[in-house]
Amino acid sequence: MTSELFPFHQSFIGKEEIKEIVQTLNSGWLTTGPKTKLFEKNFADYIGCKHAIGLNSCTAGLHLSLVASGISSGDEVITSPITFPATTNVIVHQNAKPVFIDIEPETLNMNCAGIESKINNNTKAILPVHFAGHPCDMDTIMTLAKKHNLTIIEDAAHALESKYHEKKIGNMGHLTSFSFYATKNITTGEGGMLTTNDDNMAEKLRILSLHGISKNAWKRYGKDGFQHWELLMPGYKYNMFDLQACLGIHQLKKVETFLNRRKQIVKRYNTAFQGVDEIQLLKPKSGIKHAHHLYVIIVKTEHLKASRDVVLNEIQKRGIGVAVHFRSLHLQPFFKKHFNFKKGIFPQAEYFSDRVISLPLYPKMTDKDVTKVIETVLDTLHLFRQ
Ligand SMILES: *Cc1c(COP(=O)(O)O)cnc(C)c1O
Repeated sequence: MTSELFPFHQSFIGKEEIKEIVQTLNSGWLTTGPKTKLFEKNFADYIGCKHAIGLNSCTAGLHLSLVASGISSGDEVITSPITFPATTNVIVHQNAKPVFIDIEPETLNMNCAGIESKINNNTKAILPVHFAGHPCDMDTIMTLAKKHNLTIIEDAAHALESKYHEKKIGNMGHLTSFSFYATKNITTGEGGMLTTNDDNMAEKLRILSLHGISKNAWKRYGKDGFQHWELLMPGYKYNMFDLQACLGIHQLKKVETFLNRRKQIVKRYNTAFQGVDEIQLLKPKSGIKHAHHLYVIIVKTEHLKASRDVVLNEIQKRGIGVAVHFRSLHLQPFFKKHFNFKKGIFPQAEYFSDRVISLPLYPKMTDKDVTKVIETVLDTLHLFRQ
């Protein structure tokens, strides 16, 4: 046993990021400005979309999307229960109602075959979450959007590199929100980006992201002379600032290199865990590009003398940091209390809630680290074998 925990995640920050930050600190301009603009431009180029709006989080992007789409009291938004609370909190903030549908076992994405039966006159949007970086069934989602006049707001916190049938996530739905939180595929510490191809929407989102005033602060004192701002709508304080963008500009350049390293690790995990009775693996579909944000194993507790939490604790005790993505939101105290959800209504989400474990998956990992994770997981399962 080791006393030091091998971390579940570590960011990969290079000399370039640090140099850029120091230069910006010395420049005297710290808030939203030229670095944010450059990061937004490079990000839009990477996605292939018209507009990318830098924000202080993916959560902010999801919230602004709902606000700008006019989603308010009494409206319903269809989403997955296997996600982070940010996805549904912003719906509740708008006094709208999150409507869950159960997930599919192959990907843990929402089962799109279940969407249409939940659409009624109050339904205003579908909010797909591309779990672990595996895109949801966007053909079905976009067809339903057209047929029922719904807005598609994507939670792409895991899905920066993802493609669906050769089309980039962030360039298909109406609004897509990405995360640069510390554990995500690229990071700005905290941060997010919202993409859209709709010019009017982009203009509105920019205004909403910075107090609802008409001009960006950094343009107000430009070479055109002093410009007054005007308050157009009660906005939010959600803007990205240049110190974040300094990280983002250089992280984005490495996005595919990082992914390639994670793919190598995924390959080794797959080889090691395929055919192990106590483990079930997810089954990616064909015709997609997976962003491999998470590597999830499903521990088949019916073949073990221990619950998932006991297995998870033992792996941690043996020195490997692991995580759980996610326990189904419908059984969280808030949803049980305010939406009266009970056990049994989403059998797939509940089954996987009790069995998923996420293993470390990041470019800083060495081959030796990967071996140690594999051995620790297999030894632990052996210990609890029936
Ligand atoms: C990380 C995460 C978010 C929130 O991202 P922030 O940038 O921290 O706001 C939202 N949804 C999912 C699925 C996430 O994993």
